[in-house]
Amino acid sequence: METSCLFCRIVAGEIPATVVHRTGTTVAFRDIDPKAPSHVLVVPVAHHADVTELAGDPAVAADVLATAAKVAELEGLTGGFRVIFNTGAHGGQEVFHVHAHVVGGAPLGPMLA
Ligand code: 5GP
Ligand code: ZN
Repeated sequence: METSCLFCRIVAGEIPATVVHRTGTTVAFRDIDPKAPSHVLVVPVAHHADVTELAGDPAVAADVLATAAKVAELEGLTGGFRVIFNTGAHGGQEVFHVHAHVVGGAPLGPMLA
């Protein structure tokens, strides 16, 4: 755990969040500023800054993807959904504890619109 990391503190329960699913290695909680009817963030419990670091831990990377799929099921996203890893400055990443955005619940339009 990194004490200065917002998402490590959410994982530890030090900062409240609406958790929708939890496994031994991942936590899924609602985004505080949802951009779609359903907008959930999936994070590994272990701190990795971004998806390039997460790729170095393939077992946990697979757990993050499996949790994203489980969230889509729990949220009833039968029409489809999007899984996004914003990465680095050009990718618009603001929190440097890797997280998959799982968004859906309505047609999302072209990806880069
Ligand atoms: P990024 O731009 O890093 O991919 O996305 C960070 C996301 O974290 C944003 O969508 C933002 O709304 C969300 N976020 C920022 N602070 C908090 C918080 O304290 N709690 C929750 N649940 N989400 C947050
Ligand atoms: Zn962290």
